Amino acid sequence: MSSLPAPSPPVTLETQPFWDAAAAGRLVLPRCDACTTVIWYPRAFCPACGSTAVCWIDAAGTGTVYSCTVVRKGQGAYREAAPYVVAYVELDEGPRMMTNVVGCDPDAVSIGMRVEVTFDATDKGTALPRFRPVGS
Ligand SMILES: [Zn+2]
Repeated sequence: MSSLPAPSPPVTLETQPFWDAAAAGRLVLPRCDACTTVIWYPRAFCPACGSTAVCWIDAAGTGTVYSCTVVRKGQGAYREAAPYVVAYVELDEGPRMMTNVVGCDPDAVSIGMRVEVTFDATDKGTALPRFRPVGS
């Protein structure tokens, strides 16, 4: 668990498998059976080829910081949480996920840093995937 707030996400029919897996501590991603594109965000069709043959795969849970920023004045539920990191993490499977990098000094996060998934439980039985430096 990080010290960031963990507001419960809106769960839809298309995202239910993702949130069910996250609650169990697993990162899963949709993948197109027709062209093997790994898809983010979850949806019922492949954005590359239009196929509706989409399955779920277990992701490695590791990736690289593609872009990041330190938020120094949070808003809403995050008002008291600043400073914290908002980042795009490029997963080893290819997609880039907007997330938080936790578990280290926010100013120590940099582009190219290797990170691994961690989950923050919400108060509604779901969990938010966030990332921390590998080995931290
Ligand atoms: Zn496809």
